[in-house]
Amino acid sequence: MGTLAVIGAGTMGSGIAQVAARAGFEVVLRDIAPECLTRGLATIGASLDRDVNKGRLTPDEKEAILARIQATTDLAAVATAAVVIEAIVENFDAKAALLRELDALTPPETILATNTSSISITRLAAVTKRPAQVIGMHFMNPVPVMPLVEVIRGCATSDATADAILELGAKLGKTCLTANDFPGFVSNRILMPMINEAVFALYEGVATREAIDGIMKLGMNHPMGPLTLADFIGLDVCLAILDVLYEGFGDPKYRACPLLRQYVAAGWLGRKTGRGFYTYEHHPSAHRG
Ligand code: NAD
Repeated sequence: MGTLAVIGAGTMGSGIAQVAARAGFEVVLRDIAPECLTRGLATIGASLDRDVNKGRLTPDEKEAILARIQATTDLAAVATAAVVIEAIVENFDAKAALLRELDALTPPETILATNTSSISITRLAAVTKRPAQVIGMHFMNPVPVMPLVEVIRGCATSDATADAILELGAKLGKTCLTANDFPGFVSNRILMPMINEAVFALYEGVATREAIDGIMKLGMNHPMGPLTLADFIGLDVCLAILDVLYEGFGDPKYRACPLLRQYVAAGWLGRKTGRGFYTYEHHPSAHRG
């Protein structure tokens, strides 16, 4: 299958590494923080254990998958991969700095893919000397479970790059759907205004949070209501993406609801902090300290 490099061993990077190793790729998983690598590998191990317990994987297969993942803090280890997928923090300067390093380190034909949720692919590509080989590969969380990869073509992305990434996505067992590079791509351009409208409905007293979520869940057949989903995604993440839409289109229809902004200011970020539109007794930060 060849070698695939994944940069960033957080929620998304570890999921991408797991899916790639399971599909038969040798995976170089790079993070700057050794403790993040340890945590990422533990998450992968726990996820594979669940599959072993359910009989979907044998213990030997699990070990073989783990053996295909080489965890490292050394960026030079990614140099031999045909495709590098970055899944580091959602920050333009951090991603641009990494892309410049990768541009210098890897052969010019290596494809540099980014898992960004909202940053312009065209803008990221422009910091490299190979904009034709830069593309968005937007996996959904949790990566091993969600079937979609939104493939985003920057202004300069070549057909050959797009084709190679569609082929890679298929090998990973994902369904790839393509979008062009405009703010929020397709997924967040449609999802975030819906979530924002739900927050406005709550803010204006149109209905309770339970009624808003229940109406969307039972009436529209959504698996969860928009306020529950916002808590799951993280209210800070939702706000940041709405601000990208608002700034990118210069259109007031994307103005974030003041209630969302207020919750984020209060540190009520959803599940991860134990409180958002709902309260959660067992949240990850309680375990991580
Ligand atoms: P995360 O905070 O869980 O993980 C980020 C990891 O990147 C951390 O382990 C950090 O140590 C590491 N890192 C930071 N700078 C690095 C560098 N220069 N080199 C190597 N590692 C570095 O974040 P996440 O939720 O996994 O998100 C990663 C990317 O995926 C972001 O661009 C995000 O917008 C996107 N995304 C997230 C979701 C989601 O639901 N979490 C969904 C789709 C896309």
